[in-house]
Amino acid sequence: MAATATERKLLIAGEWIETGDWLEVRSPYSGDVVGRVAKGGAEEARRAVDAAARALADPLPAHKRAEILVKVAGLIGRRHEEIARTISDEAGKPIKAARVEASRAMSTYTFAAVEARKLAGEMIPMDGAQAGEGKLGFTLRRPIGVVGAISPFNFPCNLVAHKLAPALAAGCPVVLKPASQTPLSALLLAELEEEAGLPAGWLSVVVGPASEIGDVLVEDERVKLITFTGSGDVGWKLQERAPRKRVKLELGNSTPVIVAADADLDAAATKLAANAFAFAGQSCISVQRVYVEEPAFDAFVKAFVPKVEALKVGDPADDATDVGPVIDEDARARIGSWIEEAQASGGKVLAGGETGELLKPTVIAHVGDDQKVSCEEVFGPVVILNRAGSVDEAIERANGTRFGLQAGIFTTSLDTALRAAEQLEFGGVTVNEAPTFRSDQMPYGGIKASGNTKEGPAWAVREMTEERLVVIQR
Ligand code: NAP
Repeated sequence: MAATATERKLLIAGEWIETGDWLEVRSPYSGDVVGRVAKGGAEEARRAVDAAARALADPLPAHKRAEILVKVAGLIGRRHEEIARTISDEAGKPIKAARVEASRAMSTYTFAAVEARKLAGEMIPMDGAQAGEGKLGFTLRRPIGVVGAISPFNFPCNLVAHKLAPALAAGCPVVLKPASQTPLSALLLAELEEEAGLPAGWLSVVVGPASEIGDVLVEDERVKLITFTGSGDVGWKLQERAPRKRVKLELGNSTPVIVAADADLDAAATKLAANAFAFAGQSCISVQRVYVEEPAFDAFVKAFVPKVEALKVGDPADDATDVGPVIDEDARARIGSWIEEAQASGGKVLAGGETGELLKPTVIAHVGDDQKVSCEEVFGPVVILNRAGSVDEAIERANGTRFGLQAGIFTTSLDTALRAAEQLEFGGVTVNEAPTFRSDQMPYGGIKASGNTKEGPAWAVREMTEERLVVIQR
């Protein structure tokens, strides 16, 4: 282990514990060990749920929850560079993108604090029906109970924040299982929550074998909601196995974007080149399929390809790096084989294409809709460019996927923009912005195979609470 590597214990039931077993965290870029984390399992997960159930029985008032959330935001600000370095080291994320992620986590906690203070039910106009005359009716928003949270590797800080912060705002204790490849940022956030005054049991973090810890969250009836961000394979199975819980899924996409012939092509090329390859395409809304209306195709290619080729590929710790490594060798090999298949089937590589140590930002034109790079989620630095005869054809092809998280369109026509917003079957549609855009107060989530919920503190807080009706005879 390198001299600078971090060693972290697990936070279970208010105590930082060792288990005698350690999990090594390696840099996806250098392969060096950047940290080691105590490895837990079913036993630690059960103790964590016990502690969460005890915490739930001793509720924290909303002002206290809001104060803690505000303090965490402040602490993230104070340790911003350390958090960014942790994200970059464990995920291989370019440091400038890791800094943005750390700032976004502050924003997520800040918005959650607002939700904590204004969480309320609503008045019911009881005398709207004859039976309700003389009665007062209103709803209370009650915390749903213990929340089990499972997070992915690609935003190891802010996607954890999107679970922990709304849960606290809602008054729900959490048992978190972060991705095994990137547990350091999650444990650092847990340390900050504790420092901000979170009492014991309100948050436990269990790192270890996913199915073992997942089984506890699925089987223990005290866990009322599982919030999961990750792949569809894992997410939908969790939902099947826990039909009586709320299982909230934030899953993948194969993100399409349409460039209409009337678009500002240079602006579109600039936004798309940056957003298709940020964090080597490992964002659930990374631009993957670009449909350019026929008359603009050649001009768009001319504007787009040089911008892609100008991206700096290399060491994520370097301030100048735009594109770093993908998460591991399996991912690199899979993405490489998909690029080769697309080429073999007639796809024309316009940029990148080499499948060496570091995948270069790759642009492929004229790829069949049946190719994996077209119809599956690549989750790597690959974009495909397609000619479309019309915007209508582009919308139809963009919709020709089982996924439905976000999509985008570039156009100067208001009518075209609104038509696309209505007809693109996705949870979100961006206009003259890459569909990779996310700001942390937005309702964010997919339809179809991409999920069944919306995150963003205001929406997550509603998911994590239930309404209780109160009727009073006056
Ligand atoms: P993943 O392999 O599904 O892992 C996600 C989490 O699930 C990890 O913590 C993983 O633990 C855990 N897990 C795996 N098997 C499990 C099981 N049987 N029971 C319980 N938990 C289990 O996904 P990933 O590779 O980390 O992330 C990439 C995927 O996430 C992509 O599809 C991406 O699109 C999606 N994503 C979606 C959003 C969104 O907001 N919609 C955001 C980011 C990412 P281990 O690490 O220990 O295996």
